[in-house]
Amino acid sequence: MRKKALYPGSFDPFTNGHLDIIKKAAALFDEIHIVIGINSAKRRRFSAESMKDAIEKALAERGITNCIVSIHDGLVAAFAKDNRIRYMIRGLRNNMDYNYEENIAEINKLIYPGMEYIYFRAEHVALSSSMVKELLNYGQDVSKYVPPAVLECITQTP
Ligand code: ADP
Repeated sequence: MRKKALYPGSFDPFTNGHLDIIKKAAALFDEIHIVIGINSAKRRRFSAESMKDAIEKALAERGITNCIVSIHDGLVAAFAKDNRIRYMIRGLRNNMDYNYEENIAEINKLIYPGMEYIYFRAEHVALSSSMVKELLNYGQDVSKYVPPAVLECITQTP
C-alpha cells in the first residue's frame, strides 16, 4: 500500500520553509498531498489557483515528483478522512508552532481518530508567509525566501 501524507496550509505565499518540510516528507512517504486550505475568515493576498501553479512549478524545479497539489474549501481532517490519508505533516519553528498545532490536533483527532501527526523541525525558523508579505509591502526583495516560481507568481500580483 502506498504511504500517503497530507501537508495542508494557507501557503499565502508558499515559502522556502514550506519547501524544506516537503523535501523531508517526500523522502519518507510515497505520496504527499499538499492542500491549499481556503478559510472564509482569512482573506488571501495571492489567489489559491495561482499559488497552486507556482507550488507545482517549484516542486518540478526541485525534482520532487511525488506530490499532488490541490485546493480545498472545508475541514482538513475531513479531507484526510475522506481520502484515507492518515499522516498529517507539520513543520515546527518554535514552541508557539507546537502549542498551536497541538490544539488543532486535538480537534482533528475528534474528526478523524486514526490520524497521526508527524512534526518536522524547521531549518528556516524565522521565515513565515506573513514576513514575506510584510517585506513585499515595503518593496523589499524576497527572492531569498521563496522558490523562483513563487517569486514570479507574487511579483506578478499587484
Ligand atoms: P497556516 O497559515 O494555515 O498556519 P501555513 O501555510 O503558514 O499555514 O503553514 C503550514 C505549515 O507549514 C505549518 O505546519 C507551519 O508550521 C509550517 N511552516 C510555516 N512556515 C515554516 C517554515 N519557515 N519552516 C517550516 N515550517 C513552516
